[in-house]
Amino acid sequence: MTNLDVGATAPMPLVAPPASDAILDSVTALVGNTPVVELQSLARGLPARVLVKLESRNPGGSSKDRVALNMVRTAEATGLLAPGATIVEASSGNTGIGLALVGRLTGHPVVIVHSAEISDEKRAVLAAYGARLVEADWDAAPSDPANPRAVADRIAAETPGAWRSSQFENFANPGAHYQTTGPEIWRQTAGAITHFVASIGTGGTVSGAGRFLKDVSAGAVRVIGANPAGSTYGGDASGGILVDGVGTSWPRAFWPTTFDHTLVDDIRTVDDETVYRTVHALAAEEALLLGPSSGLAVAVALETARKAAPGSVVLAIAPDGGINYLTKAFNPEWLRDAGLSSSALAR
Ligand code: PMP
Repeated sequence: MTNLDVGATAPMPLVAPPASDAILDSVTALVGNTPVVELQSLARGLPARVLVKLESRNPGGSSKDRVALNMVRTAEATGLLAPGATIVEASSGNTGIGLALVGRLTGHPVVIVHSAEISDEKRAVLAAYGARLVEADWDAAPSDPANPRAVADRIAAETPGAWRSSQFENFANPGAHYQTTGPEIWRQTAGAITHFVASIGTGGTVSGAGRFLKDVSAGAVRVIGANPAGSTYGGDASGGILVDGVGTSWPRAFWPTTFDHTLVDDIRTVDDETVYRTVHALAAEEALLLGPSSGLAVAVALETARKAAPGSVVLAIAPDGGINYLTKAFNPEWLRDAGLSSSALAR
């Protein structure tokens, strides 16, 4: 027997070979083209298939790498962002990380205004990419000088040549998802997707990918926004949002320009206990370590799949991974302090 014979009878490798063996000339080439995984355990017995698109596979760990890259490229191309000029953004974390990463690669210093609640992991990642960090009061009203966007505006005004990327008003945000996320989903599902679910922060994902999927399917794909408890997007104004990066609440509540709610067929609100139970079940049953907003979107996808016609294909976006929330979503003490159960976490 030769080595060639062994190769012919060996079991299939557990890890699929990379799609390309090309040596990449930039980390930016790693942005997008994220994989889709089908839920095998949580969706067992449901009439519809439930797919999850893993945005944690982007180089900065979230869907926001697509947005950061497109915002910076567009601003450079249109002359808004001069070579070497500073980028300033108010971000709950992921957009900041995306911009810090892209800023490194394009020669722009990056200042990120963030909330006190940002996870330690995200703060450390931002620092590792060399971003300057400024803390603001995430609950301050838009008219309050401590409001994150007001702080970011002030820093930009005081920094010569600085550019505010303004993810909540910048059409390069939904544009990134129209140009990449939407077409990827259509290609990966071979046009079989019937329901698209995305949690809503700036609304860039649900609006951009949602619009592409509506356009390409002549309106057939249903677009569903996933909303955390306490967020005004779902008509609840109670505040106290426990899911990072999504929703908006008083006194800071606003409808971002980047959120085209006219194309969203439905907005589903999920209680925090269900969100975190889903996050823990994804890790325990599917070996998918994902962030809380992924749990939110998957909870809505499962609810949608339960009621869907047989043969439906529901795809949820998982905006980021769980590693950045080990001290929060996967920490029994944090969960207890937040009034949530940690019983699904193995000890
Ligand atoms: N999940 C997380 C963790 C996020 O940071 C964001 C963006 N703020 C979202 C979901 C929502 O994405 P979008 O802004 O495109 O609505």
